[in-house]
Amino acid sequence: ETLSLKDPSLLVDACLIGGEWSKSGSGSIEVNNPATGGIIGRVPNAGTEETRRAIQAAHAAFPAWRAKTAAERATLLKKLAAIVLENQEDLARILTAEQGKSLAEARTEVGMSAAYVTWFAEEARRVYGDVVPSPWPDRRILVTKEPVGVVAAITPWNFPSSMIARKLAPALAAGCPIVIKPATQTPLSGLVWGLLCERAGIPAGLVSVLTGSARQIGGEMTGSPLVKKITFTGSTEIGKLLMSQAAGTVKKVSMELGGNAPFIVFDDADLDRAVEGGMLAKFRNTGQTCICTNRFLVQDGIYDAFAAKMAEAANALKVGNGAEEGVVQGPLIDHAAVEKVEAHIRDATAKGARVIAGGKRHALGGSFFEPTVLVDVVPGMEVAKEETFGPLAPLFRFRDEAEAIAMANDTEVGLACYFYTKDLGRTFRVSEALEYGMVGVNEGIITTEVAPFGGVKESGVGREGSYQGIEDYLNTKYVCLGGL
Ligand code: ADP
Repeated sequence: ETLSLKDPSLLVDACLIGGEWSKSGSGSIEVNNPATGGIIGRVPNAGTEETRRAIQAAHAAFPAWRAKTAAERATLLKKLAAIVLENQEDLARILTAEQGKSLAEARTEVGMSAAYVTWFAEEARRVYGDVVPSPWPDRRILVTKEPVGVVAAITPWNFPSSMIARKLAPALAAGCPIVIKPATQTPLSGLVWGLLCERAGIPAGLVSVLTGSARQIGGEMTGSPLVKKITFTGSTEIGKLLMSQAAGTVKKVSMELGGNAPFIVFDDADLDRAVEGGMLAKFRNTGQTCICTNRFLVQDGIYDAFAAKMAEAANALKVGNGAEEGVVQGPLIDHAAVEKVEAHIRDATAKGARVIAGGKRHALGGSFFEPTVLVDVVPGMEVAKEETFGPLAPLFRFRDEAEAIAMANDTEVGLACYFYTKDLGRTFRVSEALEYGMVGVNEGIITTEVAPFGGVKESGVGREGSYQGIEDYLNTKYVCLGGL
């Protein structure tokens, strides 16, 4: 299957390791288009040896990069952002072809990637320290910030471009080199970052991108004493594994892990606005984002009306190949993803839930699935605890505010949550009571490069975006100046 691109050289088939394009590794990996089943490319299957070379090159490139002024680093990052935008259409086409999301969503994601790079180019110049009032008359206290050193990043397939952007950009802005392992399902949107960085003039060795064995690459990244920080976006399960592996050398970690986002609709909500936000929060990227609504919690008085409108809206979503104009729901990433959605529907309906929209594999075949809405969902069903990561909207019912908060917090994770109300007091009470890192009040889409993205509980450690997104790549140094 051939993609039509303005610049076909953006389809990269090699890893960038310490400034060299390399196909070394054990064989290669086919890249599959989930909408068609066609093969769109082939990438290297790199492992321990290649990762070691990339880490050594990063280590060697570190001193010269940290010695540059922030303005010099910012200039290169702004150039990188401009190059991303110049190639936005091609990058979006590659993303859709390997990941499945609609072209409109892919264009937005690539735009977000550029926005993160621009933001961190700006933040590079605002890495301030402190002068602390001294308790000693003859000493002064300075606090400065320094780059942590070599960073290793592991990223997922659901946002194969922007999840790299919000790690790569703050690392480089702070003065750190970075070695990146994109997800195996979506390697092309990852490898192309190597090319874009080269074109922007970012010095060789600072950015390496390797595709291949997660176990080998992840093992070397977490085991190497030269790597000072691991930044990961993915499942809670793999996040825990990486944290335990990184413990051996006490690395810094940033972890963006799974969620189980509740979307609470109170009786006093603006119904149409709640449906519109709920549809976006649920069905964006075909339900495959870590901040996608996993559970709708709907108050008694508005339940039936909300359910009817959600079913109508779900039935109206156009499912198909994301590359086709007008399609808003692409395929799921693979068959395992389809089976998980089916398992959740089976479990819920066996325990008394009812399907009011969709409910089965789509007539298009492959990994396409019908946008699905379930009513009469109760705690105790699998969907209450587990992230579905697919186009399934289960509607739970609640009586009052206290019950809604208890249900929303009844989970080990705490990434994003949403609620809809017109009551000002409730807005404060509920947003303070929810044990989550991010809260959308009367909004279903809240991600922006200027705000801190991240979770509490088992959803992770650290924040991406905002000024905090660069802090996570800096060490604090205290200097005591004595004998004055
Ligand atoms: P997802 O459910 O999004 O696929 P994963 O946590 O399985 O989430 O994968 C996210 C990223 O972590 C991918 O790049 C994947 O290749 C990588 N990964 C998976 N297993 C490991 C591992 N044992 N060590 C390091 N990285 C891993």
